[in-house]
Amino acid sequence: MNMERSPVRVRFAPSPTGYLHIGGARTALFNWLFARHEQGTFILRIEDTDQTRVVEGAIDAIFAGLRWLGLEWDEGPDVGGPVGPYVQSRRLDIYRKHAEDLIANGHAYRCFCSEERLAELREAQRLAKKSPGYDRRCRNLSAEEIQTALDSQTPFVVRMKIPLSGETRFEDKIRGTVEYDNKVLDDFVLFKSDGYPTYHLANVVDDHLMGITHVIRGEEWIPSTPKHVLLYNAFGWADSLPEFVHVPSILSPDGGKLSKRKGAAAVTDFAEMGYLPEAVRNFIALLGWSPGGDREKMTLEEMIAAFTLDRVNPKGAIFDEPKLEWLNSEYMKDMAAVDLLPRIAPLWIEKGLIAEEDVERDREYLCRVIELFKGRTRRTHDFVDLAGFCLRAPTSYDEKARAKHWSDPAAADRLAAAAEAFANLEPFDARSTEDAVRLLSEREGVSASGYIHPIRLAVSGMSFGPGLFEMLEVLGKARVVERLRTAVRLIRSGRVGTD
Ligand code: GLU
Repeated sequence: MNMERSPVRVRFAPSPTGYLHIGGARTALFNWLFARHEQGTFILRIEDTDQTRVVEGAIDAIFAGLRWLGLEWDEGPDVGGPVGPYVQSRRLDIYRKHAEDLIANGHAYRCFCSEERLAELREAQRLAKKSPGYDRRCRNLSAEEIQTALDSQTPFVVRMKIPLSGETRFEDKIRGTVEYDNKVLDDFVLFKSDGYPTYHLANVVDDHLMGITHVIRGEEWIPSTPKHVLLYNAFGWADSLPEFVHVPSILSPDGGKLSKRKGAAAVTDFAEMGYLPEAVRNFIALLGWSPGGDREKMTLEEMIAAFTLDRVNPKGAIFDEPKLEWLNSEYMKDMAAVDLLPRIAPLWIEKGLIAEEDVERDREYLCRVIELFKGRTRRTHDFVDLAGFCLRAPTSYDEKARAKHWSDPAAADRLAAAAEAFANLEPFDARSTEDAVRLLSEREGVSASGYIHPIRLAVSGMSFGPGLFEMLEVLGKARVVERLRTAVRLIRSGRVGTD
């Protein structure tokens, strides 16, 4: 192990039951930030002991989600490490041995009850309005009874022997002391008859063997923690109990559960929604954590420096998409156009606005287009919707704007005059085009806006956008003059009327 690292070892332990959603990503990010803050180790462990819930492709989807967010792991399934393997289905012998140890030391027992009996028991408890739970029938079987069942190869599970009285207590870093009456705890299953451990056994054994110092996970795991504490005690590991940190749930703005539309999507779907991973990461970091003050937009380095567990808020965090949009726009604003280009160009290519091979050739122009728009975009798609005309001449023109600015018969004359003035302009920039328009307006006794609106519509097809003259400068003389002439032809031919 790297001697410079602090002893802090944390893990993100997803079950491969689907893609990485916002909740999982937040747990991963908090673990990762804490590890980086402490110069500790961030471990990825795949918890696939419930084979009925394993979804094909889920491990790759989780890898992809973590990598999209830039959360590399120090130890894990593909990178390896000193305490692997890091996929639980490859550690079955370890769990079997530990389950046997607990039977031997009297903290666990074999339960031979059939599925049918357990189903009947559950039904009887339901009818009697009792809380469900195992009735401990096999807890005190005699040695002979056990031997007979084993000899006849009766399938069995291994159950934890929960103390019949007393309390189990643990300290949660965020919530303080949490206490459970042992009477409410069930003799839960540790090892199943299919040869796989349950989540509880595998999770505790691995956290111990992997030297986990802090368990940072969602608050839905709080009810599991007393069981885990009892397991640590039963194994004789009470001295190395990790710190428990249960982070708050993420709620939708109406206070309910996150729905698929409102944030429960895969993190990688946020790329398709037009968000940058940096912005999503920053947004997720603020779901239940705050660096103090009103700081929101932070670099990764700033987040790492500021991330401490005492600033995790016990109250539920709200998934506020407008805030994500705002952060995204801030990130885009602050990024250099040349860095944004690789994120935007694929969208332009996909929409057929530009050919892949032209990106390199037109790099300078494309960067100027990005520069022109980046202050007014919220998502990457806006560069398609708002700036697409910079790459391809408009083929349609906003209807309302047409009625307003092109229906006057003099509009075509003004556009023609502007085209002629611009054609001879040298240099062609924001200042010179503005001067030229002012000159025309004075000469003809028409207000400047009598030129500005029709010109904007002719070059962009739209009635809004960046400042007209900055836009003209970026588009350049050739495009502008050609588009003005096209508009003149269309208006004069009556092909774009005020329909
Ligand atoms: N495998 C559990 C999950 O899917 C891990 C819970 C924990 O971190 O202990 O969330």
